[in-house]
Amino acid sequence: AGAAGAAAGVGAPGPLAHNYHPLPITLTSGEGAWVRDADGTAYLDLLAGYSALNFGHRHPGLTAAAHAQLDRLTLTSRAFDHDLLGTFAAKLTALTGTEMMLPMNTGAEAVETAIKTARKWGYEVKGVPADRATIIVADGNFHGRTTTIISFSTDDDARRGFGPYTPGFVVVPFGDAAALAAAIDETTVAVLLEPIQGESGVVVPPAGYLAAVRAACDAAGVLLIADEIQSGLGRTGTTLACELSGVRPDLILLGKALGGGILPVSAVVGRADVLGVLTPGTHGSTFGGNPLACAVGIAVVDLLATGEYQARARELGAHLGARLDALVADGSLAARRGVGLWAGLDLDPARGTGRELCERLLARRVLAKDTHGSTIRLAPPLMIGADDLDWALDQLTAALG
Ligand code: PLP
Repeated sequence: AGAAGAAAGVGAPGPLAHNYHPLPITLTSGEGAWVRDADGTAYLDLLAGYSALNFGHRHPGLTAAAHAQLDRLTLTSRAFDHDLLGTFAAKLTALTGTEMMLPMNTGAEAVETAIKTARKWGYEVKGVPADRATIIVADGNFHGRTTTIISFSTDDDARRGFGPYTPGFVVVPFGDAAALAAAIDETTVAVLLEPIQGESGVVVPPAGYLAAVRAACDAAGVLLIADEIQSGLGRTGTTLACELSGVRPDLILLGKALGGGILPVSAVVGRADVLGVLTPGTHGSTFGGNPLACAVGIAVVDLLATGEYQARARELGAHLGARLDALVADGSLAARRGVGLWAGLDLDPARGTGRELCERLLARRVLAKDTHGSTIRLAPPLMIGADDLDWALDQLTAALG
């Protein structure tokens, strides 16, 4: 493991298991869009914790909410109610235009919760025969790392070596509504999709895709579950990416930025008659909806309710898109995709890997991460200054030169 670790550039053998391939940098502090290493060198963070840091590092309103709650009450478990749970539920459902919510911790837990909910709904409401429920997913998906979730991943690295796999999932091509509709049968209880695929390289489906999927679900009495764990909460210039297509899912999964970059907070929000199939004792989480998580989650929802972050993502996103288009036009980039303050950049593989570009950016004090192969993702904090974004794009232009 030591030799493999050293070859992978992850340093000397030590007590840390290698589930990531981090860039060679050790961070010690952060503020807003900037982080510093032990030497005090400042780097601009264009990854933002895979969109968990939409409001930047240590947003003062969010840390204040956390500090205040740390001095009051941090954990009750759901065995006892606490005074912030109802407020969090009311505010998050109002923000997302939904009827009910169930708080969890990590994104993967929200996904698992939705899968369980959809299956139970299928048996109890739709009348699917016991243990026959299927869920349709898209190739190139990323929904997390649990054994069930990797069972329907199409990424060999994510899957290989972790079988036996959970049955009950049907994979169809992403962006092809006709193929999805054709895959629906009497066992289908739900379609689970990222409205824009993040880990796949910010892949935006063709216009009309989500609306066509919604129509196919409606025609067959199938639930539409949108995984907005990465795309949601302002990133695309709207609170939810689904708003861009005017589609209302039955269940929406939120995570990452819901915890303000402070602690893991996720939630399933959606229809009351669907989430209502979960009854006492059928699902739970010791930490889900804890007072500290609710205090931060409420502060996050209050920030998003102003609309300020969505507006910034739209305005800065238009600028980001225009500058990336220029890099495509002059041949520096093979392609760019994205919406709002979220971009997937494809390099011509002849010009190097995404990893190499990220290392060149690191040398220029810009932090970004490859998703795979020659693709990198840019997802700056939504509060990034326009000047800082331009500086980072100057560094990108130079690093591509
Ligand atoms: N769903 C999507 C769309 C994600 O991007 C991620 C994480 O990258 C997850 C789910 C899993 O979230 P977590 O890592 O908090 O379990």
